[in-house]
Amino acid sequence: MAAIAADPAIDEVILSGGDPLSLSDDRLAAIVAALDAIPHLGTLRLHSRTLTSIPDRVTPELVSILAGTRLRLVIVAHTNHAQELSDQVGAALAQLRLLGVTLLNQSVLLAGVNDDAVTLAAHCRRLFQIGVLPYYVHLTDPVAGAAHFDVDEDRARRIEADLRATLPGYLVPRFVREVPGRTAKTPLWAL
Ligand SMILES: *Cc1c(COP(=O)(O)O)cnc(C)c1O
Repeated sequence: MAAIAADPAIDEVILSGGDPLSLSDDRLAAIVAALDAIPHLGTLRLHSRTLTSIPDRVTPELVSILAGTRLRLVIVAHTNHAQELSDQVGAALAQLRLLGVTLLNQSVLLAGVNDDAVTLAAHCRRLFQIGVLPYYVHLTDPVAGAAHFDVDEDRARRIEADLRATLPGYLVPRFVREVPGRTAKTPLWAL
């Protein structure tokens, strides 16, 4: 927190991995208040699976914490398939939209789960129905034991092209991969 306060070049703080919404309301409120008090910060971003896996996490207390900050809020959900986006999830997210929170989603491209344009287009449209814009589709990192979910880059490129042909541009997520040693994600077209 001291390092953030000392560096006026920092505009955005990201709370992610673990999951910031698995914190208690008290802990979260304390963090938000501390960040809120740093004048040069403009944006607070949360990456969370909890909103969609446990929509009941959007309690009046959580809404009040998020409503109480001057910081612009961005929440990035992590979902991979339209089936994860029930009406209950939509209702929970609607409460956040009322606060003016920008809602985005990132997915992982998983063989046999969402590695075709029809499934992904349905996911993107469902996201938009509940007020969420598709942000990233991640190609898998090499993780031991998960190789059976890998989708190769050529196939991913075809899926991305099909999505572009199917969806309005604002619903097409950026296809990216983490390349070791690079600070930003690398777009699929540049791999
Ligand atoms: C990708 C990433 C970021 C930055 O995300 P952008 O959405 O590209 O700005 C920050 N932290 C971690 C751990 C990331 O993987």
